[in-house]
Amino acid sequence: MVRARPGPHRPSRPPPRVDKLTHQRGIDVNGSKAASDRARELGLEDLRTYCWHCPIMGKHRKQFLWEHHKPVADMRNEIYSMGPKVRLEEVAAILGKTRIAWVLQSEGKKLGNKSRPNPAATYRDAGVVLLYPWDKCRPIDRKRHRAP
Ligand SMILES: [Zn+2]
Repeated sequence: MVRARPGPHRPSRPPPRVDKLTHQRGIDVNGSKAASDRARELGLEDLRTYCWHCPIMGKHRKQFLWEHHKPVADMRNEIYSMGPKVRLEEVAAILGKTRIAWVLQSEGKKLGNKSRPNPAATYRDAGVVLLYPWDKCRPIDRKRHRAP
C-alpha cells in the first residue's frame, strides 16, 4: 500500500479542530430566575454548574431547556458572512462566545426560535429574567460530565 504524501490538498499536519479551539475556554452558562427557583425546589445546585451532559439535567429535560442566548442559526450566519477565506481562529472566536441559559421549557416557548439581532432584548420582551450578569458566569466545558 502506498502512503499518501503531503501535498496541497493533504496537509502534513491536520489543522487544529475548531471544537478544540473553542473549548479551551468553555462556554458561559447562566440560568433564568424561574428555572433557578424550580431547580432549588428539586434540590439541584446553581444552574451555572450544569452542562448539557449532566445526568441530573437529563432526568429533568422535560422541565429545563439548554437555551442558546444567541441562536445557533445566527452564529452560523455570522460565520458565513465572513466569507470563504475565514480563518479557523475567527470561527472559534465566534463559537467561543456561546452563551447558554438553562430556562424552563415554558420560557423557551416564549423566547421562540427566530433570529435574535439583540438576544437580551428578546429575553426582556419574553419576560425571561436571567439570574446572573454574564460576567458572573464561569465558562464550563459543555462535555464536562459526559459519561466515559
Ligand atoms: Zn455536566
